[in-house]
Amino acid sequence: MLSTMQDGPLLVSGILRRGQAVYGDSLVITAQSDGYRESTFTQVAARAEQLSKALRRLGVGADDRVGTFAWNDQEHLEAYLAIPSMGAVLHTLNIRLFPEQLAYVVNHGEDKVVIVDASVAPLFARVRDECKTVEHVIVVGEGDTTGLGDILSYDDLIGAEEPGCEWPELDERQAASMCYTSGTTGNPKGVVYSHRSTWLHAFAGMNTNCVGASEKDRVLVIVPMFHANAWGMPYTAFFAGTDLIFPERYLQAEPLTRIIAEQRPTLSLGVPTIWNDLLHYSRSHDVDMSSLRLLTAGGAAVPRSLMEAYEERFDIAMIQGWGMTETSPVCAFGRAPKGIAPEEEMTWQAKTGRIIAGVELRVVDEEGRVLPNDGTSVGEFEVRGPWVTGSYYGEPTPDRFHDGWLRTGDVGSLDGRGFMQISDRTKDVIKSGGEWISSVELENEVMAYPGVYEAAVIGVPDERWDERPLVVIVAAEGAHPEPAEILTFLSSRVARWWLPERWAFADEIPKTSVGKFDKKVLRAKAADGALEIHEVGLPAHGR
Ligand code: ADP
Repeated sequence: MLSTMQDGPLLVSGILRRGQAVYGDSLVITAQSDGYRESTFTQVAARAEQLSKALRRLGVGADDRVGTFAWNDQEHLEAYLAIPSMGAVLHTLNIRLFPEQLAYVVNHGEDKVVIVDASVAPLFARVRDECKTVEHVIVVGEGDTTGLGDILSYDDLIGAEEPGCEWPELDERQAASMCYTSGTTGNPKGVVYSHRSTWLHAFAGMNTNCVGASEKDRVLVIVPMFHANAWGMPYTAFFAGTDLIFPERYLQAEPLTRIIAEQRPTLSLGVPTIWNDLLHYSRSHDVDMSSLRLLTAGGAAVPRSLMEAYEERFDIAMIQGWGMTETSPVCAFGRAPKGIAPEEEMTWQAKTGRIIAGVELRVVDEEGRVLPNDGTSVGEFEVRGPWVTGSYYGEPTPDRFHDGWLRTGDVGSLDGRGFMQISDRTKDVIKSGGEWISSVELENEVMAYPGVYEAAVIGVPDERWDERPLVVIVAAEGAHPEPAEILTFLSSRVARWWLPERWAFADEIPKTSVGKFDKKVLRAKAADGALEIHEVGLPAHGR
């Protein structure tokens, strides 16, 4: 028996229309060198309508890809809303990719038009000639556009159109946007989000088990809009009437803390390295974070010491989210469960997260057998659900899927309450004497030691044990953390055989284009002898 329910498609234009009709006064604020630009949702929606008409005039039709090469700003949001709504496909391009990778994703995605922020135009100019499918480059703002060939001005283009348009009735399974993985694991692979997946994922972001964004919130979106759609927040915010604050290119601790003090966001999202920078900055500068109720950290493991520091110093909850470009991305969110004593909450928050409504998670062993959700059986996570990809764009990769589930490449355990604990990525796990050492857990413990600014742990070859951990440390300003002392500190926190005997100091940990520790680069440096490695004796009884 079929239901009597209506069956309208879930479309990005529905998100746009709701923000426009219901939250017309909500604000979109973009930082700029001399202050801020401010527009209402009504104005942004009208400009999105104008943009869609202008693109249509340029010949953009159904399924055509329109790339964006931009910071987080108002025009980027207009593209987020207009391009899918008109039936074309938004392709967010990572402005920090190496030229070869950038040219690769533009060509692989077959972008027809690219919208480029003037301030990053020189970066796009490096690959312009290689992008054979690109017919038009539209530039937002003023700047050096040498090397881009003929360009169109964004403001002139949309200024020639009147607001107001009827959005087409699309199939909800149709492509809305695409994003390539940031390539930590080889060549970037394309993921194509549908209208339905985008709508459902944005809806989940309003859920109080997840971020719970509402009209009363103001969200500072630090995670780039080219990194898995800024974790869906632009769409969630437009759906919920949440004011959006975009930092544009002002992503260092000084301007970010100023934006927080002046614009008073209640929510913010970013990778842990950003929150670590802000925390260290706040130790020597006056900052006002009193407006914030929730910080979401994700994209990489969040050290417990970082969450504790925000709670103790600022009384701000930092909750970690887990996800991948392949999963839209949010699939888990680490709020503590009910019935937990306040002093125990941090133990739960420090886990990777609790699976959110709408998606399912399981752990399998190396033979693909499903392991029990007992919180101790360790294997690879597999995930499925309506905002999880079922394939990669134009690239058959059957090994990444298993019986309709996506293999995540993340290793860890799942408990009976849906809490996942990632111990590592499969390729980062350190295999020492037939046992696994979690590089993530080790580095989180090292980063808890005062005077350590950042620490990354990689496996290096060892004659006796196959592999042993190497800790690479960046010292905090003015601090001189000693490996021998850190080892004493670690000895009560990790198993004895985990204690690392190899240590190196660095000025910084190399980061990927989305701000995560780049262990591939670190491993190459260690192999090339580019790190000065110190052997340090272990405390007392050894392993
Ligand atoms: P890339 O795979 O190129 O790094 P993604 O941003 O898609 O790009 O990365 C997804 C991966 O990031 C996950 O598979 C996982 O390894 C890691 N990750 C994301 N969130 C967390 C988290 N809270 N804890 C640990 N790892 C995380």
